[in-house]
Amino acid sequence: MSEQYRLASPQCPLCAGLLQERPTPGAVVDVCADCHAVWIDWFDGDVSSVASAVEVRPAVPQARPGARTCPRCRDTLAPEHLRGHGPEILRCPGCAGVLIPSTMLAEVVALGPIEDTSPPTPEEGLFRRMLNAIRALGA
Ligand SMILES: [Zn+2]
Ligand SMILES: [Zn+2]
Repeated sequence: MSEQYRLASPQCPLCAGLLQERPTPGAVVDVCADCHAVWIDWFDGDVSSVASAVEVRPAVPQARPGARTCPRCRDTLAPEHLRGHGPEILRCPGCAGVLIPSTMLAEVVALGPIEDTSPPTPEEGLFRRMLNAIRALGA
């Protein structure tokens, strides 16, 4: 392969750790070896569906801050609430790839597939409160 799409050693935008490819049933994502942030390319599909196939241990980025630089196109990532009201993630304005901090992954997964536009049921509200409680414990 003469032209590689993926950079040789992409860096985590949050902590400058090494992003490592991780195959999932639906897509290949990149997971930071240090803070476990998950990078999903725009063409990998619905963010929540892809994220649901990724298992990482939530970890807080270390003191060494990354430059928030896109690991693909070097653009600067911008904060965005997923689907306007969801958990805050970082999106690249250049290639539309998404970086999910590992502490946000559970909330992203909880959004469910993008086709589901029904209002949250009481059970889902409970699930969200449980997630928040779990996150508070880990903070
Ligand atoms: Zn990282
Ligand atoms: Zn990009």
